Amino acid sequence: MRGFSYLEGVSTLRLDPGRCNGCGLCEQVCPHDVFSVSGGKAAVVDRDRCMECGACAMNCRPAAISVTPGVGCATAIIGGWISGAKPSCGCA
Ligand code: SF4
Ligand code: SF4
Repeated sequence: MRGFSYLEGVSTLRLDPGRCNGCGLCEQVCPHDVFSVSGGKAAVVDRDRCMECGACAMNCRPAAISVTPGVGCATAIIGGWISGAKPSCGCA
């Protein structure tokens, strides 16, 4: 699944660099390589790869990351699988 992108611009993932302590856990736990940590700060490399699993936020002690599991792209993708239709987040 690494390198896989979902729908553009629908992920609820947010990062507050001001809270980040550079621990690197988000980069380690993310299954889709969304984060890069260097110079003591995390950065979002590609938000559209996020499947909203929530692992990064659960492991971020200073709460620099927020994501609402299943609200954006994950729900859209699963809905597309079930219905056979083109995935849509329903916000358009
Ligand atoms: S887990 Fe949180 S504190 Fe650690 S590098 Fe990632 S954003 Fe920063
Ligand atoms: S919610 Fe999951 S896929 Fe998205 S950035 Fe966090 S760990 Fe990666």
